[in-house]
Amino acid sequence: MATFVGIDLGTTNSAVAHRNTYGRPEVIANREGQNVTPSVVYFGADPPAVGQEAKEWARLGNEEIASFFKPHMGNPQFRLEFHGRSYSAADLSTIVLRRLREDAEARLGETVDRAVITVPAYFADPQRKPTIEAGTAAGLKVLRIINEPTAAALAYGLQKAGVEETVLIYDLGGGTFDVTVARIMPGETVILATAGDHDLGGKNWDDRIATFLAEQFAAETGFDPLDDPTALNEVLVKSEQAKWTLSERSSARITLQLGTERRTFELTRAEFENMTFPLMERTRRLTEEALGEAGLTWPKLDGVLLVGGSTRMPMVRSYVSQMSGKPPRAGVNVDEVVALGAAIQAAIEVGEPIGDAVPRFTLGMSSGTAGSAPAAPPAPPRVTDVMSHSLGTVAVSPDGSAYVNDVVIRRNLPIPAGDRRPYMHSTHGGANDRLEVYVTQGESTAPLDCTILGKYVFVGIEPTADEVTVDVSLSYDSNGVVQVEAVQRDTARRLAMTVEPVPDDLSWLADPPRAPESAAPAGPIRVYLLLDASASMTGEPMAEAQNAAREFLSRLDFTTTEVGLISFSTLVALQAQATNNVRRLHAALLRVEPGGSTNLTDAIEMARGQLAADDRRRYIVILTDGYPDAAESAVEQAAAARKAGIEIVAIGMGDADREYLRRLASSDQASIFARTGELVQAFGHIARVIAEGGRALRIRS
Ligand code: AMP
Repeated sequence: MATFVGIDLGTTNSAVAHRNTYGRPEVIANREGQNVTPSVVYFGADPPAVGQEAKEWARLGNEEIASFFKPHMGNPQFRLEFHGRSYSAADLSTIVLRRLREDAEARLGETVDRAVITVPAYFADPQRKPTIEAGTAAGLKVLRIINEPTAAALAYGLQKAGVEETVLIYDLGGGTFDVTVARIMPGETVILATAGDHDLGGKNWDDRIATFLAEQFAAETGFDPLDDPTALNEVLVKSEQAKWTLSERSSARITLQLGTERRTFELTRAEFENMTFPLMERTRRLTEEALGEAGLTWPKLDGVLLVGGSTRMPMVRSYVSQMSGKPPRAGVNVDEVVALGAAIQAAIEVGEPIGDAVPRFTLGMSSGTAGSAPAAPPAPPRVTDVMSHSLGTVAVSPDGSAYVNDVVIRRNLPIPAGDRRPYMHSTHGGANDRLEVYVTQGESTAPLDCTILGKYVFVGIEPTADEVTVDVSLSYDSNGVVQVEAVQRDTARRLAMTVEPVPDDLSWLADPPRAPESAAPAGPIRVYLLLDASASMTGEPMAEAQNAAREFLSRLDFTTTEVGLISFSTLVALQAQATNNVRRLHAALLRVEPGGSTNLTDAIEMARGQLAADDRRRYIVILTDGYPDAAESAVEQAAAARKAGIEIVAIGMGDADREYLRRLASSDQASIFARTGELVQAFGHIARVIAEGGRALRIRS
C-alpha cells in the first residue's frame, strides 16, 4: 500500500502530515518522536545526518553544515561544497525531503509516494520549479505545490467548518515573511491577496542581537566577532537562544567565550523590542499592502492567524493586536498548521474525503425513507489561490523610447490564470522567422527591476505577409508555475519554442530600444551613501530609508564594490568608512538616529574627502526628504564633487524638491523622486545601474 502526505518544507524546520484513519489531517512524528524536523544537514556523517542531530553539530560550531538554504532555492550562484561534491539549495532540500519521507514511512508502516509540498507565497517561478524537482528527486510524486499561508487557511477553515469569515494570515518564519488575506467559506477557501518578503524572518531578529553583542564585545575587548567566521557563528547561536529566552522572560543573560576572552551581557526584552522595531514596521507595510490589494480595511477582517515560529515573540502578538485592533486567533499551532493544510490539499488532489470521513447516519423520516443510511462523504473543500507577483513580458513602450515591463497577468488574480499579447513581427520575406520574448515577474515598469524568468525563443514564423501577428500566451498553472506558448495568428499554428538562459548582461534594457550602446566594463567602485537624519525622518521615513538602503546593498557586487555611510542632520557623522563588509554596513545603518536639521553641505564635503581620487568609479548617493539648511552651498559642494569626477545621485522622498534634486545630481536620470513605498524600488534601480557601469546616470554627450 502506498499513501500520500503533506509536507511543510521550512527554512528552519519542516513537518509532515497525513490523513489519518478518521479522515482528519494529523502530523506524523519523526524518528525522534518530534513533530518538526530541523531543515539542517550535517555532512560529517555518511550518509549525511538530517534534523536534530545536524542542528546539534551546527550548535557545536561544526562547519560541515548546510542550513538556511531554502531562501537560495533556484539561485544558480548558491552552491555548497562538501567532500568534493557541490550542492544546490534544491539538492539539499532533496536530502531533507528524503529523510522526511523515510521517517513518515517508518511511522505509518507504508510507502509514501506522493506529496503536496508548501512554498512561501512569495516564491516566484525560479524557486517553485526546483521545489518540485527536489520532491521528485526524493522519490515523491509532487501532487501540487501550494502557498504556505494558503495551507494554513485550509487547515484553519477545516477546524472552523461551517463558519464564513475573512482572515489575515501573518506568517513569520525563520527566513521569510508572508501575509495573506483569505475568505473562508463552507467548502471553499478563497485567497484574496498575498504579499511578502523573502528576506525577512527570525534570522533578522537574531542578526540584530548579534550586531548588538558584537559591538559590545568589540568595545570591551578590541576583538570584533564580525570579522571572524567561527566567532560569528558562536554569536549567532547565542543570539537565537537569547531571542527564545526573551519570548519567555523579560531579560536574557548572554555569555560569550571567544578565544581567550569571556564576557557576559544583559539584554532586556524592552531593549530587544526597541532595536527590532523597524523589522516589525516592515511587516506592517507588507500587511497593509495585502489588505489594500484585497480591497479591505482592518474593520472588515474577522481575525488574524499567526503562523511560523517567529510569531512566538510577544512583540509580534502585541504589534499585530495593535495594528489590527483584535487579538490574534487562538488555537492555531504555529509549527504544524502548514503541514496539516498541505495534507488536506493532498487529500483533495487524490479525491479522498477529508475532515469528516466517519460514517454519519441520518435519523428520522424527513426524506420519506425510514431507517439510517451513510451520509455522502463531504465534498472536498475547494481552494482558489493567487500569486504575489505579476507576470509579463519585456516590450517596447508605445512611443518607442524605452523597454518596459508589460504586465500580462496582474498579481493577486485567482490561479490558474492566463492571457495573451499580440506581437507585431517583421518577417523580412522569410529572413526573420524568429521571435525572442523575455518573460518577467514583478511589478515595476522597468524590466530590470523585475525578475527576468527566461528568454523564450519561438521559431518557424511563416512569411505570409511583411508583418505578421504572433500571439504570445502566458499563464500561471495551479502550482503557480509559469507556462508560455505562441501562435502565429494567420496560420493558427503553434510555434516551436526553446528557453534560453537569460544573458548575464541585460544593461541594454535600460537604454532606448534602437540605439544600444556597448556595455561599460565593470571596474572597482566606491560609493558613499549620504542619509538624511534630520528630525523629519523620524519613524516611518527612516524605517523605509533603512529598508531601501539594505535593498541597495543587497544588489551590489561586494567583490568589486565598497560602500561607506554618512548620516547628516545638524551634525554630520561618518557611520562607516567604505568597506565591503555588508554586516558592518547593516550595523551602521541601524545606528542612524534622526533629529536636528539638514547639513547636506558638510556631508558632501566629507564624502568628497573620503572619495579622494583613485582609479575607482566613485559615487555619492544622497537620500533626503527636504530642503537642506544652506541649499546653495550644498549645490556648490555637489558641483565641486562632480568636477572631481564623482557621480552624484540624488534621491528625494517626502517634502524633497524635484528641481533641487536635479541641481545636485549628475544628470536627470540620476535625480529620482520616490513616493511612499517606492523608495526600495528606486534604490534597487540605482544599485543596478551603478553595478552595470552607471552609464544611465551620466550626462549623455
Ligand atoms: P519556522 O520557519 O516557522 O519554523 O520558524 C523558525 C523561526 O522561529 C526561527 O527563526 C526561530 O528562531 C523562531 N522561533 C522558534 N521558537 C521561537 C520562540 N520561542 N521565540 C522566538 N522565536 C522563535
